[in-house]
Parts: sequence; structure tokens; C-alpha cells
Amino acid sequence: MSYFLPHIDRMSGYTPGEQPRGFDTLKLNTNENPYPPSPKVAEAISAALADHRLRRYPDPVGKVFRETAAQLHGVSPEMILAGNGSDDLLTIITRAFAGPGDVILSPTPSYILYRTLAELQGARIVEIPFNADWSLESAVFHHSQVKLAFLPNPNSPSGTAISRHQLADLASSLDCPFVIDEAYADFADDHAIDLIADHPNVIVTRSFSKGYGLAGLRLGYLIANPQIVEGLTKVKDSYNCDTLSLVGGVAALLDQPYRNQTRAKVRATRARLESEMSALGYEVPSSQANFVWCPGGPPAEPIYQALKDQGILVRLMKYPGYEPGLRITVGTDQEIDRFLRTVKPLVSCS
Ligand SMILES: *Cc1c(COP(=O)(O)O)cnc(C)c1O
Repeated sequence: MSYFLPHIDRMSGYTPGEQPRGFDTLKLNTNENPYPPSPKVAEAISAALADHRLRRYPDPVGKVFRETAAQLHGVSPEMILAGNGSDDLLTIITRAFAGPGDVILSPTPSYILYRTLAELQGARIVEIPFNADWSLESAVFHHSQVKLAFLPNPNSPSGTAISRHQLADLASSLDCPFVIDEAYADFADDHAIDLIADHPNVIVTRSFSKGYGLAGLRLGYLIANPQIVEGLTKVKDSYNCDTLSLVGGVAALLDQPYRNQTRAKVRATRARLESEMSALGYEVPSSQANFVWCPGGPPAEPIYQALKDQGILVRLMKYPGYEPGLRITVGTDQEIDRFLRTVKPLVSCS
């Protein structure tokens, strides 16, 4: 006998990447930034604590945060909604737009949380397979009963990005909200925020977890037209973002020179990791994110395990119908040197 609703009982639930405690493990498995956040973030949080700001509830819509993000992206504050990590925003979006029996589209192989969110609503997820070259067939997105579509761009685990031209094409062909999940846009050449002006169904989500080195703070935001933001505000928890993450987020956004510096370092190390893994025989697609996807080499599972035994954690990704593959987060140069020293003998003797 279970007390749970039948559709909850049937779910397996989302399993996040392993988070070992202690700092002995070299963590290259959940795409955290290898560099610490801007020092301005800790200063702002300390100042808020000293000012006894925790005594009061936070601003329900994070007015100052909204204004800061709006200014950075050249949009109006009414187009910004903050969330407790971008996952919170994805949850709010799914709750707002999809109910029992509705169809939610997402590509595959891709971010698996979308399936969990659909299952929570009793909605049906329809997965559109990427082509072998990680492009998408726009025509396949035509599907009846679609209430919502998700597309991470850059995508995980591939790290590849769909062109602006195709994004615009998809946005016009979809008769529902189209979420472009830009959790990794801080490492990419391009982004889609300006598509919102011509495509009112586009919702762009952003995260502080990857580009700003603040995965532990839990903050994200979305950019969408004001009617969408107003509707989503009804669905969110009243105080979904706490005082400290909001002030920390403002400080991080205001320190763009720091963000650009870590972005440049990660992109340089990424290029080196890509070419080293290709030289080892992996079929590495060109990454626009802070990780490198390595299919096509020797069986991934034993290599994952041997790395783990030597204190290096990478992500072993398994998708139905695909060979398991390794996704490696871009670390510092030193960390990637250690990873490469360890992985080379494993690959050559398998
Ligand atoms: C990491 C990630 C997120 C979640 O980011 P948070 O802001 O930490 O919740 C969302 N989408 C994709 C594709 C991600 O990889």
C-alpha cells in the first residue's frame, strides 16, 4: 500500500551527479566551475549579514536583482524572473504550462531532468533524437498536443550548440512556450536572448552554477516577455530566492570582468582537453560548454571505474539506444593535466 499518487509511485526520480564530501576527489563530473566566484560575492553577502538583513523576508521578486540582470542584458526588469537555481525555474515553467496527458518535447541525448519534471505533472515527454552531427530536424518538432518544448543550448552531454537560425526556426514553428536552457551560455560564442523580441514564446534560462562558480548558492533567472514572467510569478513560491543568494547574484553579475576572465581560462583549457581526447581516439564534438563529451573510445564503464579508483570522478552517461560515454568537466590546467596523465595509460591498455 502506498500513500503516493500513482504517477509519483511510477517515477524513478532524478539522480544528480555524485557529490562526494571532502576535497580529496578531483571532481570533473557535474560541470562546476573550477575557479572560485568573484570576491565581490562574499563581500556583498558579508555586508548583508552585518546589516542583519536575514531578520526580514527577502523581496519576493528580487527587485534589485531583476534590475541588475535587466541592465546587463538590455531588457526591461519585467522580463526577468529569479529562481532557486535554474532547476527551480524549469519546475515553475513545467507546472505552469503542462498538465496530465499533455506533451512536452525535449531532444535526446540531453538533460534528463525534463523527463522527471514532465512525470511529476503526469505529462508525456516526447524525445526528439539529435542527428549524428548533433543538429536537429525542425520538422520533427511538429507534434500535436505539445504544450511546452525544452532545448538546452549548448546541449549536455554533447556540449554542442544549435545555430541561431535554427533556434528562430524552431521558435516560429512551435505553438507553445519554447525554453532555451542556457545554463552553459557563459562558455559559448552566442546566446538567444535577442530572439525574445521577435518570438514571444521564447523563454531563456540562465544559471549562476556554471559560469559564475556559484553552484552552492542556488540562483538562476529567466528572461521572457512580461506576460510570461507575470504568469510564472503566480506559480513560484512567494520567497523562492533567499536574501543572501540575491545579493550575491547582484555582485556576481556586476563583476563581468571577473566572469570574462574565468570564461577565457575555461575555454582555453577546453580546447586543449578536446584535442588531447581526440588524439586518444575519441570522437569529440566541438564543445561550446565547460565540459567535453567523449564517445567512441574504448568501453566507457571500466575507464570511469579505474579513474574513480584513482580519485578522479567524471560523469558516465547512459542513454537508451546509445553506447555509454564519458563527460568530462573542464577543470583548471593543473587538474586537466592530472586527468590526462591518469587516463592515457587506461585508454592505451584497453
Ligand atoms: C546544470 C544545469 C542546470 C541547472 O542549473 P542550476 O542553476 O544549478 O539549477 C539546468 N540545465 C542544464 C542543462 C544544466 O546542465
